[in-house]
Amino acid sequence: MIETTGRETTNSSSPTSTTPIQTPILKTYSNQDIGKGRGVYVSTYGCQMNVNDSERMYSLLEMANFTPVPTPEQASLIIINSCSVREKPVHKVYSEVGTFRKLREKNPDLKIGVGGCVGSQEKDNLVKKQPMIDFVFGTDTIDKLPEIIAKVYQSEGPTIDTQFAHRAPYYVETLIRNPGVSTFVNVTKGCDNFCTFCVVPYTRGREKSRPYTHVLKDVQELIQRGVKEITLLGQNVNSYESECGKDFADLLKGLAVETNIERIRYTTSHPKDFDEKLMDVMAQHQNKICEYIHLPVQSGSSRILHTMNRGYTREQYLEKIQKIKSIIPNVVLSTDIIVGFPGETEEDFQETVRLVQDVAYETIFAFKYSPRPFTKAARFEDQVPESVKERRLAELFEAHNKISFELAKQYEGQVLQVLVEDYSEERGNLHGRSTQNKNVYFLGPKDMVGQTVSVKITKAFPSTLRGEWIPT
Ligand code: SF4
Repeated sequence: MIETTGRETTNSSSPTSTTPIQTPILKTYSNQDIGKGRGVYVSTYGCQMNVNDSERMYSLLEMANFTPVPTPEQASLIIINSCSVREKPVHKVYSEVGTFRKLREKNPDLKIGVGGCVGSQEKDNLVKKQPMIDFVFGTDTIDKLPEIIAKVYQSEGPTIDTQFAHRAPYYVETLIRNPGVSTFVNVTKGCDNFCTFCVVPYTRGREKSRPYTHVLKDVQELIQRGVKEITLLGQNVNSYESECGKDFADLLKGLAVETNIERIRYTTSHPKDFDEKLMDVMAQHQNKICEYIHLPVQSGSSRILHTMNRGYTREQYLEKIQKIKSIIPNVVLSTDIIVGFPGETEEDFQETVRLVQDVAYETIFAFKYSPRPFTKAARFEDQVPESVKERRLAELFEAHNKISFELAKQYEGQVLQVLVEDYSEERGNLHGRSTQNKNVYFLGPKDMVGQTVSVKITKAFPSTLRGEWIPT
């Protein structure tokens, strides 16, 4: 695909001329003094959604006059924003809070809070198990953070605020301090799918979509700040549905046609909601919409997919992949896989390995199943022994490594369009990503950051590419 750096004209129905975004969070806090002279440090674990949420927390707390600091030692306020999709991060929260004990001995003003998915999941249990924690908030109460923290500094006991606003509209403009060249834009939150292994519907609530015009206006503002690439973010972006009846394909098309953004990506998709209309829009707007699709399959066995409540069979998934490949012939695919789901037999697992080989994903993100609170699968009786899960995971990675290296080798000699994201002073090289979402390293002047340039690939490694800049 040829990536264009040319800009399209914004049409007369530009989102900038629409109803202004309601921004209840951008008020002047009555407790603005609360952050004066205090540093804030946010420790983040988990997915891109969590990274994005942490950035939002920093932005909100800057409005309350806190100063972001690079280490917990310099902070008077520490927030742990952690994922709960797998078991380990929850344990990590407790151990991290434990390590902050010594900091409080030196700084009695220090307050420690836990937020994000772990906050929504564990609520006041966190404080019961670890009394060092001063406050807990959830994914739906991030925007109340300055108020919560004002309360924390003014009161004796812990503050817990993890309510879900199930019926409230989803109005969140992107809050990001230094967006750089490429940034994330939330379009949906929550999920209604209730896959039997997944805790997201319990930690992020019911699915909601941002108004169409709000997303477009948000993106226009990011462009003004120098952003060249956006990644639309949601647990299930494909079920986006705006208040005016626009679906995700309409949103992608709107962004491609009505804004000057150079590149558009999105994550994550659900196979059951990935329709032909979306494939067509991607094919028709390849000058802006990247050809990389992350389509989590989770298992290659229809029997396991059924017990996971995924809403598709192996055959239906493969049919969709064929359709995508026929409409977008240069598509690059990646996926998520869970091995050792309860009841997974050796034959089920081998079906997963065969599917990975048949689809030829460039990248897979594979994990061992771990039971999560509230989920149905945690109560399934036929749990797979840990040693079997470990062996299957290693086998799957081994099978995929062979495919991915062969696919990476095919890039050697090709000229890719790379959006330059950063320059390393230490190594004296540039780094950027191609439209295929490949990390490409090459030599060139520092002022190329932010430009899309042609790079000839000279050497492929399993997860990165090295190349030479071709001046035009
Ligand atoms: S689609 Fe399934 S796996 Fe994805 S967030 Fe929703 S419940 Fe979780």
